[in-house]
Amino acid sequence: MHFHRFDEPGKVKLDKISEEPPPNVTKQEARDRLEKIGEELFELQGWMWGAHTHSVLLVLQGRDAAGKDGAVKHMSGALNPRGVAVTSFGVPTQEEREHDFLWRVHKPAPRAGRFAIFNRSHYEDVLVVRVHELVPKSQWSKRYDQINAFEHELADNGTRIVKFFLHISKAEQKKRILERLEDPRKRWKFSPSDLEERKRWDDYMAAYQEAIRRCNTPWAPWFVIPANRNWYRNAVVSQIVLETLEDMKPKLPAPKLDVREDMID
Ligand code: AMP
Ligand code: MG
Repeated sequence: MHFHRFDEPGKVKLDKISEEPPPNVTKQEARDRLEKIGEELFELQGWMWGAHTHSVLLVLQGRDAAGKDGAVKHMSGALNPRGVAVTSFGVPTQEEREHDFLWRVHKPAPRAGRFAIFNRSHYEDVLVVRVHELVPKSQWSKRYDQINAFEHELADNGTRIVKFFLHISKAEQKKRILERLEDPRKRWKFSPSDLEERKRWDDYMAAYQEAIRRCNTPWAPWFVIPANRNWYRNAVVSQIVLETLEDMKPKLPAPKLDVREDMID
């Protein structure tokens, strides 16, 4: 089974990329494949934990209702919770604002042997901050290089960084926002700011596109995930994480001692 992926987003044009799964992929196939991926992922995660030399940082970005929470739930559910920490980034606190914008993301970056999952990230500082000019352009425009340097430092220190843009259409967002409003069990997820942000759809798309183009580096690639269907989004994200781990080739940890049968009575 083959998942379509967008692995060279350096010149990405987001409006040319479909938010829908390719027509030849069925939900059932994706589900079957996911089961297999899950087993391999769990095993390789164990090896990475045992080796304690490398780590993985997954960054999830996307518009409101794009499915960031769903993707976090899916990925953290697929992994051994012992080795995963999830951090969500909201409006910065006063203390955070009074530091440089990378201060708050550095500490939750993953330790050797572990996964960290970021639900939103330092990219908000070139997204919402740019769209609303929360800091002057002279300041946010330097951040692309600063992000690349920061991510390079993490990568040099043994962290594999994988960044996902969950790509939903404007029509799908409307459907999801309406669901949040109409379904009493989903209403809590609705934030009035979602409507305000939706009005800035094109500004956000331009900001995302620039972030993806300028910060798609060999040491921290971006992946644009067609995210109108949750089952496809989950399958592709899992597949990419598995391929990342396979590429890292964690070694099967050596046994701590050579146990012989006659040592066990
Ligand atoms: P949610 O993910 O729905 O809990 O919302 C988090 C909110 O925090 C979103 O509206 C983001 O735009 C906002 N946010 C996250 N990071 C920043 C940032 N660096 N500056 C300003 N707002 C931010
Ligand atoms: Mg929200």
